Amino acid sequence: MSQELRDVIIIGSGPAGLTAAIYTARANLAPLVIEGSPSSTSDQPGGQLMLTTEVENFPGFIDGVMGPELMGNMRSQAQRFGAEFLTTKATRVDLESTPKRVWAPDPSTGEEIEYAARAVIVSTGARSLMLGLEAERRLLGHGLSTCATCDGFFFRSHHIAVVGGGDSALEEANFLTKFGESVTVIHRRSELRASKIMQDRAFNNPKISFLWDTVVEDIVGDGKVEGLDLRNTKTGETSRLDVTGVFVAIGHVPNTDLFVGQLDMDENGYLVTTPNSSTTNLDGVFACGDVQDHVYRQAITAAGSGCMAAIDAERWLESIGAEDGPLVENWAG
Ligand code: NAP
Repeated sequence: MSQELRDVIIIGSGPAGLTAAIYTARANLAPLVIEGSPSSTSDQPGGQLMLTTEVENFPGFIDGVMGPELMGNMRSQAQRFGAEFLTTKATRVDLESTPKRVWAPDPSTGEEIEYAARAVIVSTGARSLMLGLEAERRLLGHGLSTCATCDGFFFRSHHIAVVGGGDSALEEANFLTKFGESVTVIHRRSELRASKIMQDRAFNNPKISFLWDTVVEDIVGDGKVEGLDLRNTKTGETSRLDVTGVFVAIGHVPNTDLFVGQLDMDENGYLVTTPNSSTTNLDGVFACGDVQDHVYRQAITAAGSGCMAAIDAERWLESIGAEDGPLVENWAG
């Protein structure tokens, strides 16, 4: 099938992908953004910020901005400079070939279409693991969060619960004591998975208490969180914990299934990039945002790394002698 060969395809449309789109579009590279499709937790693609209510720490917004509005603005900004968007999910890639190839179903017919580009920017993000409760969908952004750095500030003087027993849970719990009246860590076993130093810090924090061998059966509340229904796994006893904030911190999973066997990954599946750069093990393939960052996980750091990936891609295209101006030409695959 005859296809368009492009300079750049961007896979993923969170802050990293959209920033890469703005920069590559402004560099006259006419990027195609395969932005994903609506999911069970969001009606639109756009990454984790589509699941957020107010974002108060993205620079430039004195009074804060709603997550979906921020993503919508970034998308429109990229379109203004000529980025094209495909509302569908990439299903297969061949990043070792020249040109690189990406397959995705046509948004209206479902027919699998092959797209080709000289360079590919991967910004497929990561997702927080959730408990699998129906209430999570209803209450995310309304007292339920997966990011203390992002949302802790909204919980001044609240009674807060953190679910999980790893380093993330204890880090979130410690951080949340700056704001909350109390923080209860709910762990499904009687032994923490977290490192010794994080455990000591949490045990020594007077605002933190622990509920052991306990699972969350439901999150109570209509428009906002009002409490948790708990069950002790050893005794079977059920109880209600009155909290108005819940942070689920049971781990994250990078969205990298598509790249297994092609792109280098660490032991947790995050893409490996060269330090201070967005380059991957494959020439002409760049990675940015949470798909390669398990440390900072912020919209602003994702956006910054999207900018890096765009500049790296632009320079790489120059280095291989790509001509001036956007490349969108027919290519017989
Ligand atoms: P993690 O180490 O995988 O811990 C996940 C925790 O959530 C575990 O305690 C697990 O319980 C619990 N959990 C998992 N699924 C659950 C479920 N369905 N219901 C209830 N509980 C559930 O994940 P993480 O804490 O996000 O850490 C990921 C990696 O990042 C680790 O290597 C960690 O050391 C690192 N990290 C480091 C720092 C730091 O050094 N400052 C901070 C954050 C993360 P079980 O223990 O029973 O399995």
